[in-house]
Amino acid sequence: MTAKNELRDAAIAAMMRAYAPYSDFFVGAALLTKSGRIYTGCNIENSSYSATCCAERTALFAAVASGEREFEAIAIAGGHHGKLEGVCNPCGVCRQALTEFCEPAFPVLLVTAEGYEEHTLGELFPGFFTNLNGKTGQ
Ligand SMILES: [Zn+2]
Repeated sequence: MTAKNELRDAAIAAMMRAYAPYSDFFVGAALLTKSGRIYTGCNIENSSYSATCCAERTALFAAVASGEREFEAIAIAGGHHGKLEGVCNPCGVCRQALTEFCEPAFPVLLVTAEGYEEHTLGELFPGFFTNLNGKTGQ
């Protein structure tokens, strides 16, 4: 699917903008909105490590701050110094952050050197926390 390949390419481009002087692990994320826009994010590290933000949340928060609330898919690319080796899974915090706006069937594309692996948010993060009535982690 062209849109998914475009999302993959955007995640790789975002990965190369990572600010990762401490880990040298570059991550990029590209989030497609239902309105057809793509928001990208990269990991941004800090000398006070806990101030670091992941690529996925950087993209999600940029999109929400721009008025977006509905999303189609996310692609995530990562590797040491931007070299794609295997897949880069989103961390637990980012998985939780995505559940605020995305349903369990939401596609998560894990970029590989050759293409991508497609998963769903529910598959990657079952039983997520929510305090919203009627919304479950299953
Ligand atoms: Zn994360």
